[in-house]
Amino acid sequence: HTPEKITFSSHSSSGDGSSGLIVPDNPIIPFIEGDGIGKEITASVRLIIDKAVAKSYNGKRRIEWKEVLAGEKAYNALGTWLPAETMEAFREYRVGIKGPLTTPVGEGIRSLNVALRQELDLYVCLRPVRWFKGVTTPLLHPEKVHVTIFRENTEDIYAGIEWNAGTPEVEKVLKFLKEEMGVAKIRFPETTSIGVKPVSVEGTERLVRSAIEYAIRNRLPSVTLVHKGNIMKFTEGGFKKWGYALAEREYGDQVFTENIFNKIKAEQGLKEAVAAYNEAMESGKVIIKDVIADAFLQNTLLKPEEYSVVATLNLNGDYISDQLAAMVGGIGIAPGANINYLTGHAIFEATHGTAPDIAGKNRANPCSMLLSGVMMLEYIGWDEAGNLITKSLETLFERGYATTDLARFMENGKALSTSEFASMIINSL
Ligand code: NAD
Repeated sequence: HTPEKITFSSHSSSGDGSSGLIVPDNPIIPFIEGDGIGKEITASVRLIIDKAVAKSYNGKRRIEWKEVLAGEKAYNALGTWLPAETMEAFREYRVGIKGPLTTPVGEGIRSLNVALRQELDLYVCLRPVRWFKGVTTPLLHPEKVHVTIFRENTEDIYAGIEWNAGTPEVEKVLKFLKEEMGVAKIRFPETTSIGVKPVSVEGTERLVRSAIEYAIRNRLPSVTLVHKGNIMKFTEGGFKKWGYALAEREYGDQVFTENIFNKIKAEQGLKEAVAAYNEAMESGKVIIKDVIADAFLQNTLLKPEEYSVVATLNLNGDYISDQLAAMVGGIGIAPGANINYLTGHAIFEATHGTAPDIAGKNRANPCSMLLSGVMMLEYIGWDEAGNLITKSLETLFERGYATTDLARFMENGKALSTSEFASMIINSL
């Protein structure tokens, strides 16, 4: 087979779960090796994925890896941190994977991660959180945590629209707020920095739509909108309002919303509302509900089983992702992806940094990148290969085999080097 590009046919949001990706048997997939430990983990991850794919499809399918440069490797070879060809490759080949990159220090250099995300408008930051038996966690029942976070990736206070206290720019903004908008609430106007929090209908809808489609496609019970709409009424509150409206407008027959529950309750009483809710659950409808962010963080500790798919804005999503990963002991192995479901563009990545303290020592844990590789296999519809890798990790962790960072906290931990651990996975496939 000759290697081919993954292509995409325009996505209809009919809710049938078809992603629009057209994946050949030999797709060309660009990868960025990454800096620091990137070299060690990327090499292992490619070998493991290749074996899992070969095994799952009897050699009929194979990934054609295409290395593209970014970070230090690019800087050393080409004098630029993010070459235009790298950006082009992710655009052209649509689906790619990257190791961690050093954030170059110095004014005016954009974070490489931010640049990739912005250029391809990767509006979903996808973070699945689950527990692996054997991994030490602070929870008594980590097995109850099975949450997939859809974090909005392009808006919110993260848009980077801010002005520093004491600058002429902020003075101008403060003057505008005071004189033209009648804002009298700024407590210390002389020494205030200002940040802007943009949240739009379109931005909300495309994120919430992705979350609902994911829940439908994977037969998951609920989507929870997490927000601070009680305080930030038009931004966080807008997210909630527009999210519900979208769910009811576009997925009316496939979902049951808390909104509708409350309406039935007000008009016909609690008993009827509960009956309608139960009927919706039994018929496999996705329950759409919402919760205030601070209550959500409490609830995830007290009753994590109530949450399945979570949709939230950028800043909340940042906090939530780390807390949930920590709850399953997985902060070091949590995978992630940045996705644009409307164009099919997706970049899968390790969520940790370059770990300069252990780089080159054959000690790095490849699991964050490996599990993001599993996400990638699922994304292109090669679930069998992804499942094979997941099963192998489940078995190894349960038996106490892991790299040092995890093994030292495990009851029967047997610490392995990066290459030993990777070989064990490959041999078990
Ligand atoms: P880090 O994640 O690189 O390291 C924090 C700690 O975790 C270190 O002790 C490290 O040894 C350990 N660690 C991280 N990954 C590990 C792995 N796979 N296996 C075992 N141990 C691991 O965070 P940092 O030190 O704050 O950042 C270092 C560099 O990475 C910086 O240049 C930063 O900008 C960059 N960074 C990049 C990304 C990215 O590319 N997505 C994310 C975070 C940080």
